[in-house]
Amino acid sequence: MTAIAREATVAVVGAGTMGRGIAQVAAMAGHPVRLHDNRPGAAEAACAEIAQALARLVGTRRMEAQARDAVLARLAPAESLEDLGHAALVVEAIVEDLEAKRSLFAELELLLDDEAIFATNTSSISVTAIAAGLRRPGRVVGMHFFNPAPLMRLVEVVAGLETDPAVVAAVEATARAWGKHPVRARSTPGFIVNRVARPFYGEALLLLEEGAADAATLDAVYRDCGGFRMGPLELTDLIGQDVNAAVTRSVFEAFHHDPRYRPSWLQRELVAAGRLGRKSGRGFYDYAEGAQRPAPAALPPGPPPRRVRIEGCLGYAEGLRGRIRAAGLALEEAEGPEGRIVLDGAVIRPSDGRTATERAAASGEPLLLVDLALDYAETKRLVFAAAGQAGPGALAAAAGLAAALGCEATAVEDSPGLVLLRTVAMLANEAADAVRLGVCSEAGVDEAMRLGVNYPLGPLAWARRIGLAAVVSVLDGLAAWYRDPRYRCSPWLRRAALTAHPDS
Ligand code: NAD
Repeated sequence: MTAIAREATVAVVGAGTMGRGIAQVAAMAGHPVRLHDNRPGAAEAACAEIAQALARLVGTRRMEAQARDAVLARLAPAESLEDLGHAALVVEAIVEDLEAKRSLFAELELLLDDEAIFATNTSSISVTAIAAGLRRPGRVVGMHFFNPAPLMRLVEVVAGLETDPAVVAAVEATARAWGKHPVRARSTPGFIVNRVARPFYGEALLLLEEGAADAATLDAVYRDCGGFRMGPLELTDLIGQDVNAAVTRSVFEAFHHDPRYRPSWLQRELVAAGRLGRKSGRGFYDYAEGAQRPAPAALPPGPPPRRVRIEGCLGYAEGLRGRIRAAGLALEEAEGPEGRIVLDGAVIRPSDGRTATERAAASGEPLLLVDLALDYAETKRLVFAAAGQAGPGALAAAAGLAAALGCEATAVEDSPGLVLLRTVAMLANEAADAVRLGVCSEAGVDEAMRLGVNYPLGPLAWARRIGLAAVVSVLDGLAAWYRDPRYRCSPWLRRAALTAHPDS
């Protein structure tokens, strides 16, 4: 199936944040675009804002003035829905309300050609439900752009139960022709990104509720060790605590209160207090002028270890070996049944999903667990959790090692899977279940998370890098510790771990 023709008119209904961006994208791709809003003056104002956005592109030499003029000549506000009569594709970006979207499409059905495609930019409403009751439900498809639409490359192309496969293919090809990266999704709660991202917020909120670390420390772990542009808590401050909580609640309710999506009471408290984040001046952090962001917790750097012994394979933390070798410490390397780093007064092991305290009870070691890092060669922070039996000397020894490697050392409470490892395991679990339930392909889920929310790696690619068996072990450790079905491992992931080649 090919994209809709470049000369074909695209109608955009709803001239708010998203509609304005989508109209700009379609006009820049060469289509005549008609933009309609039922709020008087809104479509005209949106066209003026698009003109300003293009002027900025011209001002910074990212667009020729002539090209800008041609785009603006193709773009016009539409007074009424009747003025959209010749559109081949309509993208609705009106209020997030099922009845409003249904009645808009019912009205458009009387005005547009039978072949016209009806795309919805809904983030959370079933595409099947929006299409239900129309004469031609097969023409309705989700075309879910991300904010800001002109910049974000991902478009989720969402098929409802009745969507004609040819319509899905046409919208996919059209999104590609517009310079976007389409990923197909089945109409299910949250589609791909808003579903798979839930654990990013959910696990950080739970760790904060439990007092595993404070907000600034948790955010620093995700940024410094995980390579995320923002930590989950500061990101919810940007999104708005009310908006983020509403998305979680909508996914939780749509999945019949599955504990995997259970909303956070702490976030509800923030909303109740009006601490909505940046827009209200305060959320997890204070945005008042001159307010200081609290520093993440860090252990005082200790003296470098006199000797380091690495035994066995460190698994996903093997990258630490190269970093230790490069630091020029007195290093001894030996075979061993299990990977560990032995210092004077401390033994460091990669987390396997059990708590340090549990493992120390069996081994009798002054045990510390080290958290995952996206890249141990580059990370500027190492995160440790000490067994209850280990004593303060163990953390001081780890801080000395971290300092010798040029890293800050952070201690968090002894939680299963620590911070980053636990979160990545849960993201991979959610991604695996989305694949299992036919929401999207394995490649699709990874592309969607990289392009839709800028994750440094797709969750399944990250899980494969860690090792699928290790990820399953973390989930099983969490499930055993909390006895909470939230942490049940996706059958897809468990099967993939059992059938994966040992070296893959
Ligand atoms: P918005 O409030 O900025 O804009 C909505 C616009 O639609 C308003 O200008 C409003 O006047 C107009 N409108 C409302 N009902 C209408 C109707 N019946 N006919 C014509 N115009 C109508 O909202 P937004 O953030 O642009 O979101 C629009 C849609 O896009 C929603 O479905 C939302 O879930 C989805 N979405 C939003 C984002 C985001 O980050 N804001 C991202 C992806 C998808």
